[in-house]
Amino acid sequence: MKCEATRDNILLAYYGELPDELAGPFEQHLAECEECRAELNAIHALEQRLALLPVVEPSPNLIAQSRLRLDEALDMIPPHGLFSRLRTNFFAWVGHVRHAPALATLLLGVGFLGGNFVDKYQVAHQPRPKAPVMFTNQTQGAIANITGIVETPDSELVQVHYNRVVPETMEGSLDSPEIRDLLLKGATASTEGIRSQTVSLLASECKAGHSCTSGDDGKGIRSALLVSLRYDKDAGVRLKALEGLQPYVGQDQRVRDAVLEALMRDPNAQVRTAAIGLLEPVHQDSSVRQVLRTVSTQDENPYIRTASFNALQDAGSIQ
Ligand SMILES: [Zn+2]
Repeated sequence: MKCEATRDNILLAYYGELPDELAGPFEQHLAECEECRAELNAIHALEQRLALLPVVEPSPNLIAQSRLRLDEALDMIPPHGLFSRLRTNFFAWVGHVRHAPALATLLLGVGFLGGNFVDKYQVAHQPRPKAPVMFTNQTQGAIANITGIVETPDSELVQVHYNRVVPETMEGSLDSPEIRDLLLKGATASTEGIRSQTVSLLASECKAGHSCTSGDDGKGIRSALLVSLRYDKDAGVRLKALEGLQPYVGQDQRVRDAVLEALMRDPNAQVRTAAIGLLEPVHQDSSVRQVLRTVSTQDENPYIRTASFNALQDAGSIQ
């Protein structure tokens, strides 16, 4: 055996994978050749140094990918020389790699397979474009907002956390607390149609004499109607709120104040007119008479000035 062939076989011999028929000539050459002995000793020395390094177990994935890449690389090499011999012994090699982490480190370290092994490994492990998208807790509904993004280093994989708005429906009596709670929220909804419908429903409840409390916490139906009367930008909604408040104008000072405020300040003539009618049970009140007097002389709308004046006269004739 010559030097070149011996050095090709040194690694195989070192790991006990040299075919029997080559073992004799190999040993014989080593005994005669100092340079090749030095080469073998160098491998021993490297192995001893590697043994001092922390042991890293290659992942099954790495082994599988290594095998694939090695096969590909060997296919591109002419059918003789070191690599074709390596291929013959490949399965035994894989076994060695599994049980010899130091060898795995060596293979990676010396740039096995032309130095681009690591690159190929990373390329092979990049997510495929058609990889399925994974969901956790998947539900129906529109995506409301993105709450966080987690990037995987050196990869195109990202994890996006988000909240969904899941539509639900509740059905129940207008008197049930759950439905009422929802309706109270609907009274301030951003959609005008929803506000109008909700306030209309709440107003009917009050007019029908169902529970229409003005809770101390300001969360009762009556409180909601007061808020709508004062702040809703839609005149139709304010009118409906007025209707619902009608039964309480005589007994609830807050309702009376809100109606007087509407009479003086509401930009919509229809709302102001409705307020005059609503105040009829309390026309004799001094605060009410004062507002009626002001409106009868100062309102821009002649019809409202007349209506206020008439309301004052009626109240006066009763007295
Ligand atoms: Zn030699």
